[in-house]
Amino acid sequence: MENKTSAMLEKNSLSILFKALGALEEGFADLPAHAREAQETSGMEAVLLEAAARLQDNYPYFHPLYAGQMLKPPHPVARLAYALAMWINPNNHALDGGRASSAMEKEAVAGIARMIGWDTHLGHLCGGGTMSNMEALWVSGQLRPGDTVLASQQAHYTHHRLSSVLGLNFESVPTDRKSRMDLSQLEKRLEQGRVGTVIVTIGTTATGSVDPLPELLSLRDKYGFRIHADAAYGGYFCLVDNLMEETRRAYDRLSEVDSIVIDPHKHGLQPYGCGCVIFKDPSVGRFYKHDSPYTYFSSNELHLGEISLECSRPGASAVGLWATQKLLPLVKGGVFATGLGKSRSAALALFKKLAADNRFIPAFTPELDIVVWAVKAPSASRSSELARGIFSEAALFGLHLALAEMPVSFFDLPGDMVVDQDSLTSLRSVLMKPEHFDWIDRIYDILDQAGKHVCGHQD
Ligand SMILES: *Cc1c(COP(=O)(O)O)cnc(C)c1O
Repeated sequence: MENKTSAMLEKNSLSILFKALGALEEGFADLPAHAREAQETSGMEAVLLEAAARLQDNYPYFHPLYAGQMLKPPHPVARLAYALAMWINPNNHALDGGRASSAMEKEAVAGIARMIGWDTHLGHLCGGGTMSNMEALWVSGQLRPGDTVLASQQAHYTHHRLSSVLGLNFESVPTDRKSRMDLSQLEKRLEQGRVGTVIVTIGTTATGSVDPLPELLSLRDKYGFRIHADAAYGGYFCLVDNLMEETRRAYDRLSEVDSIVIDPHKHGLQPYGCGCVIFKDPSVGRFYKHDSPYTYFSSNELHLGEISLECSRPGASAVGLWATQKLLPLVKGGVFATGLGKSRSAALALFKKLAADNRFIPAFTPELDIVVWAVKAPSASRSSELARGIFSEAALFGLHLALAEMPVSFFDLPGDMVVDQDSLTSLRSVLMKPEHFDWIDRIYDILDQAGKHVCGHQD
């Protein structure tokens, strides 16, 4: 019987998992029979049903009306491939622990490297963007000991914290009104010397702003620093065909950075636990293991554990990513790229509606798929209060947005608004699901209702 809830969570693909498990099993059919641990299923069932009940206490992350934080459901093929690998539970620390899944990891990472234009590279998967960025900053610190690391004020907070873990000097560079690194401020700092690495954020977590990479590359020619691209969230957007020209210019030169981080668990349709760090120069592998000749680091014999700071790592993550890239290749014009492009179109559609609505003040035009907007009010503090009110009211109507604390300079505030604080609590929506595009009208209807409840009726 079809009922309302039966279509909420995708379950049809589970039959494929069953088939694939059968195929996997065939590979081990020659083994002598062994007594498996007795499986007491009634206890398991009770516990699992209890877990299901507990897990209901979540926002509906999988649904288009969840349009808040950076949360994207994994593709069913990723989920199934990950689950399939669980029956083997490979460990990609070393080839011993995961032969097939290590090979799949190298293929998947090479796919990401090719996407940004690197034929040779050194890279691997990590637990997430934080661990990936840590490895990149660690290598930077090895190459430029004692020199400072710079990132914009809107870069992910992890860089400051990781620099302190690694004992590196860290300074932040102010941003312009579009949340991008301010180049004149950057150059002022570069003139003072001893800058070893500049982190370019390709898609900030808060607003999806893309730092001006082409100009940064020119400054590198003049001042000689390493460039690390934190593209944890934004990396995959290099495949879409609907970026603004200035954003596209940055993506087109990604292959010129020294290292890059892209999180498959952000926009790459993977379950959590899947980040990726890639270095342009494979010889940096020497920092991980001192006694190997560096040519070794791009050879096929390489153990991933020898070029990774983490030891045990889930082979299942690699299998999930490999399967996803096999089904949805990372190519321009492909299904994956089209889905991402729709997320960006959704953000533009929402931005357009907000700009035409005199209750709201959207920040600058979104560069990727994040939209940020403030609420019009007599003062900044009142505006912040209204934003919090709309956030809660929308959730009651089933629409889940996010709140973000943003500098007032990101908004074109009306001249008569009293700016009684430096930042505005604003509303934020990450439209990461391709379905968001088809849901924009419904999303806006709810926002409109919530706005009426909180701000009162217009005219
Ligand atoms: C999410 C994010 C990170 C941190 O990555 P995790 O996977 O959450 O550890 C770092 N940088 C940027 C730009 C991000 O969006």
